[in-house]
Amino acid sequence: MIQKYRESYPNERIYEESVIEDEGALFFLIRDHLESFLIILSENKESIDLSFEGELNSMDNAYFLKCQKNQHNAELLRDRFPFTKAVLVGKNNSYGLGDRLGNAGVAHMKSIQKTSFRPVLAQQSIRELQRTNRTAQEVMDAATWTVFQVGYKEGFGADGDHLKTEADIDLMIEAGYTMFTIDPSEYVVNNVMELSRDDLHKKYSELPWELLSTTPEAVVEMYSEKDFQLKSGTIDKVSAKMVMSSMIKYGRVITHTKKLSEYLKEKYPDHPAELELSVDETDEPTTPFEHYLIVSELDRLGVELVSLAPRFCGDFEKGIDFKGDLEQFKQEYKLHLAIAEEFGGYKLSIHSGSDKFSVYEAIGSLNRGAVHVKTAGTSYLEALRTVAEADPELFREILEYSKGRFEEDKKTYHITGKPSDIPPDDELRDEDLVKLLNDDHARQVLHVTYGSILNGSDPGSSDFKKRMMQCLKVHEDLYEINLENHFDKHLSPFLGSE
Ligand SMILES: [Zn+2]
Repeated sequence: MIQKYRESYPNERIYEESVIEDEGALFFLIRDHLESFLIILSENKESIDLSFEGELNSMDNAYFLKCQKNQHNAELLRDRFPFTKAVLVGKNNSYGLGDRLGNAGVAHMKSIQKTSFRPVLAQQSIRELQRTNRTAQEVMDAATWTVFQVGYKEGFGADGDHLKTEADIDLMIEAGYTMFTIDPSEYVVNNVMELSRDDLHKKYSELPWELLSTTPEAVVEMYSEKDFQLKSGTIDKVSAKMVMSSMIKYGRVITHTKKLSEYLKEKYPDHPAELELSVDETDEPTTPFEHYLIVSELDRLGVELVSLAPRFCGDFEKGIDFKGDLEQFKQEYKLHLAIAEEFGGYKLSIHSGSDKFSVYEAIGSLNRGAVHVKTAGTSYLEALRTVAEADPELFREILEYSKGRFEEDKKTYHITGKPSDIPPDDELRDEDLVKLLNDDHARQVLHVTYGSILNGSDPGSSDFKKRMMQCLKVHEDLYEINLENHFDKHLSPFLGSE
């Protein structure tokens, strides 16, 4: 029957991996000119589920419904084909593939399917949703269409990233997310080492001991003046003062995480949920002792984690490789790993994880433990690489605009790139543009200004997104190749450990 369809519409492209039969009808995706559609095809009119929104057509001895890839149809697709719904990924190696444009998923899947990593496709923080002017549901729907298009049936995760409140959780539950990354960074108390003796004791006694279900004395007793022998490695003993200052720093992180974890369990007992704790956006690196203290306390309070994102030593700037002492990173990573093994083998999560090639080599070479890597902006940069190749004029406009936005937009980021180090427009030949995507300064300038380019609220940027999307549709194959090559480079350093 599909052969007949192919012959009747020779100008359409059928995405072959999507073809699936259910209750007497074939479901598949096609591309007609620049748009793609869901087709439901059957010789039997009754076998076509007309609750999908679409246009009913006939073809000799057969009927088909041609459906827009809208939210209504995505929901029906998830009901009918459970593999298009997000599931729990568990403590398996996994990769977070943020897709701010909503069109990178297929290429992501092509790369990921060459490995044993599990994909976390829908991954957006509240901040990213606001900056890109998208909803959690749109992001989820893009993931649904992606796995349907490539016929991926092993199950993908969906990560509500950097959630801070109960309302954030509600939003992500509503849209079907399954991984909840709790960001308690507002509860971290910095500069605790500078407290006077009196302040230290005062702040320590003021911690929410009732919520912690323990006493100030018991915590000091439990953690001070002893080495913690792990299955691999040792956490050297610390003083009572260090225990107290670490508790001041992270005590409310612990109680806030517990509160959100209980909220999820009590309000949504039937919703599949796994929890990541992210403390990556703090001023100082998380020491192994602090990591141990946080998870040991969470464990005592009955909070189970699927992953934890420490703030590692060195610099994890957006869009460029790791800067810092790689040997130190490796040593500390081993201890972090040993702590994770001690408390149930949760994954270590690497945020701002794109383009950290030296870190992947280091982790891959350890050949131990499970890892989750989060990437997002790097896919946007591959979209821009494609635009630079395919439509240099549009790229020049985006670059100039981004340079102008940089000072304002970089504020919430940890970043050192400088627009002044990018050659001025009139010195750049068209063939130089694509090379800028390999330049750290240009990458960071383009990286942090994505919101200004994509949300269209400023009249000066209003049609950038539309023009980019159009360009990427016309050059779909080039875009996919760029993305796939880029992610192959991200994933291959880990393959030694598989
Ligand atoms: Zn993060």
